Amino acid sequence: MAGIVVVFDFDKTIIDVDSDNWVVDQLGDTELFNQLMPTMPWNSLMDTMMKELHARGKTIGDIEEVLKRVPIHERIVPAIKSAHALGCDLRVVSDANVFFIETILRHLGIGDCFTEINTNPGCVNEEGRLQILPYVDFQTAPHGCNLCPPNMCKGLIVERIQASLAKEGKKRMVYLGDGIGDFCPSLKLRKGDLVMPRKDFPAWNLINKNRTLVKAAVHEWTDGEELEHILLQLINIIIAEESQLVSVECKFQTMSRAANGALSGALPVPY
Ligand SMILES: [Mg+2]
Ligand SMILES: [Zn+2]
Repeated sequence: MAGIVVVFDFDKTIIDVDSDNWVVDQLGDTELFNQLMPTMPWNSLMDTMMKELHARGKTIGDIEEVLKRVPIHERIVPAIKSAHALGCDLRVVSDANVFFIETILRHLGIGDCFTEINTNPGCVNEEGRLQILPYVDFQTAPHGCNLCPPNMCKGLIVERIQASLAKEGKKRMVYLGDGIGDFCPSLKLRKGDLVMPRKDFPAWNLINKNRTLVKAAVHEWTDGEELEHILLQLINIIIAEESQLVSVECKFQTMSRAANGALSGALPVPY
């Protein structure tokens, strides 16, 4: 197991579009979506849209069918499979919802590559409609971060992952994302970590404007092909560094054992 955790945003990072917009557009409810947009937070809007789609006779099966044809760059799935095969611990941190993400990842055959999906809850209720809830209950327990939307602070999620990793020994984090919500977690990364913002997207702009606040090394990417190439290169470099470190430690131990042996032979080393 490599000491690397790779955290992926989902929309416009793993898949090439925003899953919420994709479902609404494909099921033909864009107009209502645009009307309601200024009136409520995004997460509540998606729940309202699911209620509306259900009232208009759209089923869970219709939503699943639309999710299965979501656009994704052809190199993303191989990139994820390779990172997993190299022993990385892969996680998702997303402001979409668990129903959309799990349906898509399962369909792509990469559901088992991830150890954790941190996102808004989404479940099918007794009426057979998809209910989407906020990750953070902002009415009763606001997260208090003014960089992030009320329902989710990705920075707090990254801090929680960092705390759990500290217990598992030294681990380095690679964070990939595109959106405004990926800026806050980028600020939580430490020296030795890596951030991969999608070039010309909001997270990339914010990181470039605030370079002094970002402790992680920045590696931009434009599409799935570049994501695959850069991510696997970085992982291989880290793995090579780790194995060098291990071999140096081993050599050092061997040398000190030899030195101890030599001492018992009572042959002082002249300085
Ligand atoms: Mg995104
Ligand atoms: Zn935040």
